[in-house]
Amino acid sequence: MNVNVKAEPSFRESVDLMFNRAVALMDLSPGLEEKIRVCNSTYTVRFGVRLRGAIHTFTGYRSVHSEHMEPVKGGIRYAPNVHQDEVEALAALMTYKCALVEAPFGGSKGGLRIDPRQYDEHELELITRRFAYELIKRDLIHPSQNVPAPDMGTGEREMAWIADQYARMNTTDINARACVTGKPLNSGGIAGRVEATGRGVQYALREFFRDRLDVDKAGLSGTLDGKRVIVQGLGNVGYHAAKFLSEEDGCRITGIIERDGALFDPKGLNVEAVRSWIVKHGGVTGYPDAAHVVEGAAVLEEECDILIPAAMEGVIHMENAARIRAPLIIEAANGPVTAGADDILRRKGTVIIPDMYANAGGVTVSYFEWVKNLSHIRFGRMQRRQEESRHQLVVDELEALSDSLGKTWTLSPDFKARYLRGADELELVRSGLDDTMRIAYQSMRAIWHERGDVEDLRTAAYLVSIGKVAASYRAKGL
Ligand code: NAD
Repeated sequence: MNVNVKAEPSFRESVDLMFNRAVALMDLSPGLEEKIRVCNSTYTVRFGVRLRGAIHTFTGYRSVHSEHMEPVKGGIRYAPNVHQDEVEALAALMTYKCALVEAPFGGSKGGLRIDPRQYDEHELELITRRFAYELIKRDLIHPSQNVPAPDMGTGEREMAWIADQYARMNTTDINARACVTGKPLNSGGIAGRVEATGRGVQYALREFFRDRLDVDKAGLSGTLDGKRVIVQGLGNVGYHAAKFLSEEDGCRITGIIERDGALFDPKGLNVEAVRSWIVKHGGVTGYPDAAHVVEGAAVLEEECDILIPAAMEGVIHMENAARIRAPLIIEAANGPVTAGADDILRRKGTVIIPDMYANAGGVTVSYFEWVKNLSHIRFGRMQRRQEESRHQLVVDELEALSDSLGKTWTLSPDFKARYLRGADELELVRSGLDDTMRIAYQSMRAIWHERGDVEDLRTAAYLVSIGKVAASYRAKGL
């Protein structure tokens, strides 16, 4: 990467610059703007774990950006280069994201400086439990104060360890399971959480393509069907987004970029096959059914209709922004476009669906999981069969009518099966997620189209979310 280091804003600076662009268009009282922008606190912990006969010291962070609503919420990331500024930038994005999608949380984020691929499962459990212990004893993991979730390098497994660690330390807390989200189903998780962020990316694109004017703005036409898509990062978010878009919306995944290069095939890649290859071989190298590009990042610049950066921050920067050919970028990762690149792309007319909206599916379904844990009952458990029996009444009545008319018409078996099935938890979660993504998109879109001084969806998203955070501070005082 040949980035102009001097001019390129850091992730943290990028978030602040984007925030500043938006607040310049708002009428916030003196001081409130600064109060919303700053990160309230960051706790840094260094702890030792005995592994392989020696003590290893690890560094972790938990930042709380805004407590205008509690608990605060945000994932825990495991990556070798995690640092305080990055965690604070991510915590700030969580504040704005939660406000935008009306998840009743403040913003937080955590990180552990570790390369998880260097440790086996048992070692990772020891490290995770120790990190969780340090955060739990300071209420930085707590069902009513601070609720983590998965992020890069962590998943259901780590969340289950954290939940168990909290339960061991708080044996009488009946809401213990609500201390973390993204847990496996058997440990208090919710159906549809693993897929949620990728699913949210799909719902966001569907909502975008419902609107002719917006599709025109990106210089595109038609529906998602047949659109050429390049995805960077086939991890949790990228894999699910690519899978759903190709299997359910007719998109062609022409490029997949991973750490060890990229796969490219204009006819479309088989997402499942590539994913299985990565799981087995640790990367895309050697995959037999597509061309391998060693300099993976170059594939970001290939021609396509939709570019989905779903790996990490800062991958589209001032050096490569002008060469990005995709007319539409959806930021599945947090902060993949730097503020400098954002300026270049905006001037080029590239439409960017911003991270705080695009990847909000994860926190939305985490919110549902937290509610499920606090209510101690699975969604749909009370209503499902009652709904089915009421639908059965209608079907019986229609069939009796059909009989009385000499069966001149009948209900198709497919209709009957679908109509009679009451919604289970997964269907309810998807419905709640779809509704959230549609409403949040419309709130940004209204500002984007109606205000002459707002050029892009990102600024519109900041205006919506900062407005909500400001209203919350005004209502209750600081
Ligand atoms: P993950 O660890 O499951 O996947 C990340 C993928 O990106 C991996 O396949 C990794 O090999 C690949 N990758 C890493 N560095 C790369 C590089 N330089 N070039 C190409 N590929 C690279 O992580 P994830 O949970 O899918 O998170 C990805 C992004 O989405 C992060 O920015 C994260 O903050 C954001 N996000 C995740 C969630 C969630 O629910 N997991 C929610 C919101 C936002």
